[in-house]
Amino acid sequence: MAVSDHVNLEQFMEGVKKRNPGQPEFVQAVHEVAQDIFEFMEDKVEYHEAQILRRIAEPDRIISFRVCWEDDNHNVRVQRGWRVQNNNAIGPYKGGIRFHPSVTESVLKFLAFEQTFKNSLTGLPMGGGKGGANFNPKGKSDAEVMRFCQSFMTELYRHIGPDTDVPAGDIGVGGREIGYMFGQYKRITNRWEGVLTGKGQEYGGSQMRPEATGYGAVYFLQNMMKHKGMDVEGHTAVISGSGNVATHAAEKITQLGGKVLTLSDSGGFIHDPDGIDQEKIDWVKHLKTVKRGRISEYADEFKGATFHEGRPWNVTADLALPCATQNELNEDEAKALVSNGCKGVSEGANMPTTLEGVKVFHDAKLMYGPGKAANAGGVAVSGLEMSQNSERISWNHERLGEMLTDLMKGIHEKCTEYGDQGDGYVDYVKGANIAGFKKVADAMLAFGVV
Ligand code: GLU
Repeated sequence: MAVSDHVNLEQFMEGVKKRNPGQPEFVQAVHEVAQDIFEFMEDKVEYHEAQILRRIAEPDRIISFRVCWEDDNHNVRVQRGWRVQNNNAIGPYKGGIRFHPSVTESVLKFLAFEQTFKNSLTGLPMGGGKGGANFNPKGKSDAEVMRFCQSFMTELYRHIGPDTDVPAGDIGVGGREIGYMFGQYKRITNRWEGVLTGKGQEYGGSQMRPEATGYGAVYFLQNMMKHKGMDVEGHTAVISGSGNVATHAAEKITQLGGKVLTLSDSGGFIHDPDGIDQEKIDWVKHLKTVKRGRISEYADEFKGATFHEGRPWNVTADLALPCATQNELNEDEAKALVSNGCKGVSEGANMPTTLEGVKVFHDAKLMYGPGKAANAGGVAVSGLEMSQNSERISWNHERLGEMLTDLMKGIHEKCTEYGDQGDGYVDYVKGANIAGFKKVADAMLAFGVV
């Protein structure tokens, strides 16, 4: 059959929309990948015949379940939990768990789809998955979070395992939640095994895992800048978010001689023209993980800083790192960044820029590192945590730091291999999509029709 007999991009996307009604985030993520992959597959009849992209865009399975728990006032509460196991062609399903009121099946399907490409790009043997629940940890007591996590794991445990599916953290799921879930898994199964990553250092967690996503996003930015003969030193940066990814990105920018101007949360952002230095970053880490407070409190603590509602993208800076959540940077905000002289964007979050925003960056030939490449350092060190758990060893901070630096360099190289436009501009979206796709696709071809 000739390639021309197969569906084109528009027909393919029509089908995706029809099969996934009311799931805009998932359709958006597939669209972003499909436009590059269709171009890449133009002369590759085997991928068309085996319907590879269609198969990757159809999760292997979606598990959805009820999560009942009791709050501190003895009210019975009911949440919905999911695990989306998208693709395990190149390794066990791997990807985080998100607890947030905005979690839907569409959001988790998009994240699991993205994760498949991201994990492939790391070069480590990990498939793609994602899970979560529409549970809001904000304002809940530790005891409530514990009961929720235990109830969630009481269902999830039967679907995961160190060679099957290895969840980790994501928005709303950090060290505390991983601890409660790991404890429950161990209690139910009577097995100590590396079934979750992002664990505490005391019980099999990897050094460098907390820092990995944020540091990795800055290393990716550093690689993009180096490719253009530039350096982070002396440059200003706007960062969104104030969680694990944002604070570690801020830390690495600062260590490399850059100046961080903003951090944010769902209430708004703080702007500190003096720069958010290490002492202030440590204060934010404490605020967010121990006090569980709001970023607006920063402006009361540090003079010169101001709090504003909305998002930080209108603040003038050389670099931008969206490290909060999906679709947090739209077309107008992308235009504002470009017209304010922004030189580079590196995404610590997953799909933070809308499709229209990405187009603005590409049209302006801005250095733009999409999340699936730029934030892959987190899951990469998770992959290293899996190896350490299997081998019953632990590597030190320095060694893991070197491995993370090398992994991010390798991801950058893969992106340039497929994304170089020939005029000195690198389309990192295209590079990441094609490099991530190829490995998974070739593995799937080897398996036949399964
Ligand atoms: N949730 C993170 C991500 O989006 C980490 C996943 C993991 O470590 O498995 O990549």
